[in-house]
Amino acid sequence: MLSTMTAQMLDASNQILIAELGQRVLNGGQITRKEALSLFNLENPADIFDLLSWANRIRGKFKGNKIHLCSIVNAKAGACPENCSFCAQSSHYQTGSPKYGFVDPEPVAEAADEANRNRVTAVGLVAAWKGLNEGPLLDEVCARVRELKAGGKTRPDVSLGIIKSQRVADRLKEAGVECYGHNLESSRRFFPQTCTTHTYDDRLETIGHLKKAGIKICSGGIIGMGETREDRRDLAFSLKEIGANVVPVNILNPIPGTPFEKNEPLPVLEIVKTIACFRFVLPRQEIMIAGGRTVNLRDAQSLIFMAGASAMMVGNYLTTLNQPVEKDLQMLKDLGLDPSWDSHGFSDQEEIPMHRGCGKENCETEMELATAK
Ligand code: SF4
Repeated sequence: MLSTMTAQMLDASNQILIAELGQRVLNGGQITRKEALSLFNLENPADIFDLLSWANRIRGKFKGNKIHLCSIVNAKAGACPENCSFCAQSSHYQTGSPKYGFVDPEPVAEAADEANRNRVTAVGLVAAWKGLNEGPLLDEVCARVRELKAGGKTRPDVSLGIIKSQRVADRLKEAGVECYGHNLESSRRFFPQTCTTHTYDDRLETIGHLKKAGIKICSGGIIGMGETREDRRDLAFSLKEIGANVVPVNILNPIPGTPFEKNEPLPVLEIVKTIACFRFVLPRQEIMIAGGRTVNLRDAQSLIFMAGASAMMVGNYLTTLNQPVEKDLQMLKDLGLDPSWDSHGFSDQEEIPMHRGCGKENCETEMELATAK
């Protein structure tokens, strides 16, 4: 059979499989880990475009045509004691990235104003440190969150690293944090190749405290670090298990001076296929394309929405540049997508309690959280 989009032969068995799984997800069903892997392993461009068209339908059904925009403020930059191999802000590597202490109110207020002008739903305060404990720094963080919340211009999100105490999570919630960014980064298997100064279980424990405090979870990962397709599949299912509300998909932008500086970029079709597979596994989640979008996808950026993305990080990233917000807004307008600001109560998502499998009989989903402390 010929695909009109690519003039390449469509594999009829793949086409039947993609359609069967796509229809199942559209009907409210779920796919197994094994089925997901067969999607992650698709190679033929014609099959990948077929997959995208189903992912687009799934996004349309569960997310409509609304695209949420997020932006971030580097609230404390550089000199991080952790050794994440992709990160320009680690003190373990010489990257020339800026270094400064926790931000004053003014830059945060400016970021909120700019976000509001650009119809951005949320501004996240991101800090380069291991994590947050009780003390004067937590007081300062809570003050910035309260100011953002009181301004009423954006949803105040934060990404502040590892939390070891329930009290810290509760205080953040009291201050007004609605959503906390804490990526799993990759699969449990691959994680030690990205970082050795903290563990996958440290990350799961943090997410447990946040969920208990009633804070929504923004958790995803980075692709292109050298992980396998199976690792990407495992990451998607772990994110399903923890009940991530927003799932950022970052694409590695290799930073000179970091251990991943010489990583080969992923092909564009591999990237959009991965996004589509995430949409099949996580039909109701906000799938947000974040760091590395412009540099890795170039002129193919608009394909992220056909692949099922329902959110996008706009404005500059923590240490690298993005394309101008105006260009992103024009892209959405051209595609008939709606970036209208709303406070986004996540009411379009089912609540997923901790320790839940996929719900299917003979569920193959590994229970990551069951093993976490
Ligand atoms: S990713 Fe975060 S925790 Fe890891 S080195 Fe960078 S700033 Fe530190």
